[in-house]
Amino acid sequence: MTDAEQISLFDLDPSPKAKQTAKQSSKAAKPAPPVPVGVTYADLDALKADAIACQKCPLAATRTNVVVERGNRQALIAIIGEGPGQNEDETGLPFVGKAGQLLDKILQSVDLDPEKDVYICNVVKCRPPNNRVPEDIEMAACKPYLLEQIRLIDPKIILLTGATAVKAVTGDKRGITKIRGEWGEWEGRLIMPILHPAYLLRNASREKGSPKWLMWQDIQTVKAKYLEIKSQLQGQDNIEEDEEEF
Ligand code: SF4
Repeated sequence: MTDAEQISLFDLDPSPKAKQTAKQSSKAAKPAPPVPVGVTYADLDALKADAIACQKCPLAATRTNVVVERGNRQALIAIIGEGPGQNEDETGLPFVGKAGQLLDKILQSVDLDPEKDVYICNVVKCRPPNNRVPEDIEMAACKPYLLEQIRLIDPKIILLTGATAVKAVTGDKRGITKIRGEWGEWEGRLIMPILHPAYLLRNASREKGSPKWLMWQDIQTVKAKYLEIKSQLQGQDNIEEDEEEF
C-alpha cells in the first residue's frame, strides 16, 4: 500500500459543518479557588468521582458533562487533547466528534485499537464555551486531575495533540508545526507532540508535507516505538518469570 493510500484510510468526509469555528471568548475567566496541592487518588474511579462534582474553575458553570476519559486504563500510550467540544460535552467522552473519529482512524491505520491500545483524555475536563482555548487559570485548576491520570495510567508514551496540550503539560510554547513528531522526555516518559486531528480536518491535502502526510509519518514512528517498548516489557516479564521458577 502506498503512503497516499494509507493516509486515505483516515480521511473523513469533510463537510462544512465539520469545520470548526472555534472563536476565542473575550470573556475573562474568574479567578479559580486554590487547588489542593499534592492530591493523590487511590484509583481512577475516585478521581472520576471527584472530577464529576468539580467546581474548581469557571468552566463548571457552563458544562453539561465532565469529560474524564476513554480507552484502556492499562494502555502504554496516553493521548492528551486540549478540552471537550460539543459532542464530548454532550456524551461525557473525549474525542468522539469528527476530530475524535479521525483520531480513531489514524490509530487504526497502524493497527492500534482506540479502545485497547490507548488511553484518551484532555487537559481540561469541562468544555470551554464556544470551543475557545482554555484559559491558563482553567488549565492550572484542572492540571492536578491530569497529573493524577498520568500517574495512575503510567503510560510509557504520551502523545500531546496540539499546541495547547503541549503548553499545558510541558510549558513549551513553541508552535506545534515546529515540534510535531519530535520525541522528548517529560517526567521520565516519552512524549511526542502531534497535530490536532481537527487541524487535519481543515486541511484535506494528502500531498507530501501536508498535515495528513505529516501525521502519517508521526503515527508510524509512534507505532514502531510502541512495539519496541512492548517487546522490552514482555522480555522483562519473561526474565522475572524465569527467575521465579529458578
Ligand atoms: S475544567 Fe477541571 S477544574 Fe474546571 S470545573 Fe471542570 S473538572 Fe474542575
